[in-house]
Amino acid sequence: MRQPHANSSRSALPTRRRFLRWLTGCMVGAAAYSDWWLRRALARHSRHLTVVNVDRVTLKVPFRPVPARAMAREIPHWQYTELCFVKLASGVTGLGETLLFYTWGVPSEAAVRRVLGKNAAEYLWDRSLGAGLQMALFDAVARTLEVPVHRLLGRQVHRETPLSWWNIDMPPEDMVAECKEAYRSGYLAYKTKGRPWFDVWAQVEQIARALPAEFKVDLDFNDTLLDADRAIPILKELEQYPQVGIYETPIPQGDVAGNKRIKAAVRTPIAMHYGNPAPLVALREDVCDGFVVSGSAAQVLAAGHVAAIADKPFWLQLVGTGVTAAFSLHFGAVLSHATWPAVNCHQLYVHQLLDRPIPVRRGMAPVPDGPGLGYTLDPSVIDRFRVPRPPRRPEPPRLIEVSWPDGRRMYIANTGAVNFMLTLAQRGKMPYFERGVTTRLVPDDGTEHWREVYRRARKEPFLTRSSLF
Ligand SMILES: [Mg+2]
Repeated sequence: MRQPHANSSRSALPTRRRFLRWLTGCMVGAAAYSDWWLRRALARHSRHLTVVNVDRVTLKVPFRPVPARAMAREIPHWQYTELCFVKLASGVTGLGETLLFYTWGVPSEAAVRRVLGKNAAEYLWDRSLGAGLQMALFDAVARTLEVPVHRLLGRQVHRETPLSWWNIDMPPEDMVAECKEAYRSGYLAYKTKGRPWFDVWAQVEQIARALPAEFKVDLDFNDTLLDADRAIPILKELEQYPQVGIYETPIPQGDVAGNKRIKAAVRTPIAMHYGNPAPLVALREDVCDGFVVSGSAAQVLAAGHVAAIADKPFWLQLVGTGVTAAFSLHFGAVLSHATWPAVNCHQLYVHQLLDRPIPVRRGMAPVPDGPGLGYTLDPSVIDRFRVPRPPRRPEPPRLIEVSWPDGRRMYIANTGAVNFMLTLAQRGKMPYFERGVTTRLVPDDGTEHWREVYRRARKEPFLTRSSLF
């Protein structure tokens, strides 16, 4: 006689085993299915994100007339920009830009080969790719995912971000004209250079007469005030005008003691390029009020996060035409302390290269919320500005004359190195800041006299008691 219990127990065991086998089978099947599904989804996505083509085009974008006069002295090569187009399997093309002779990284042929056929998302943070290729990958991936670039960079904390107008040093009249143009265009900040070869007092005084106090001029001295003793009286004089907004790098940034003295003595906030001195030293010694942040996407975010922890404002300095400026807006969206006006320099050019200008109102530009950069290329610029890529930085002969009111002149010629005038001033090999000093490019009139002065100045810059022209 079968015992019901034993019976049920005997028959239950195979049932449970069958159930467990079935469950295991289901789990294996489900795992296999989910694995298959995941692989398929990834394959589908990575198929969309595969880089199928990279094109690069060099443009020579002219400067507007007033900046052109000033840029012609030391940095005419800023007209050369390389656009980068990254096409993904999704059918989307991303746009990037490298200012060929002023950038943290020019994309190489090897970098282009490295990303071809690969998943674009894998390379977004690869700094070795260079500026334009990295930017184009961000634009392409964000467009494919139908999100703005800033969604790939972090959490949006700003809906608009401050922008600054930019110009190199120029005579006071030109500077005032540019400040007025900036103010008319909605800007409230103008970043420029403080140089011993221009009258910084006249520059600031004339701006103060022509523009309201809400319009700020930020002066970057690039070390040329040389030391705290000489810098402090000048900085204190200039800051009597409410239009003076920020001083950048008045003396060498490595001079921690000197910079601390300056910061204590002047009311105007002091900006320094992030990284020199080392960020921890800069923060521990409290040498500056805020930073200038530039570099690759990862470097900009890292610096921005350190600044946020230290509660220091900074401005973004990603330099190019409107294409780079558009990319910069997305960093401004996610970095809480990007509250000083960004320096993108796109105002230099006759065309921003975009389908529409970046609007600025009361100093602020809206963060784009469309896919990718939120701006596209104006396709007509390719035919208008395309040139063969220069094999090296173009180095046209330039002879520069610095004039003082007592008749002294200094003649300086391009040497083949960038910032050939700035370097002289940084080394103290040029008369220090004085009132009444001005500077011009001496046009090559084709005479032997010009060639002779040029040759002599190129060998070594020299001072004379009176003008040679
Ligand atoms: Mg600077």
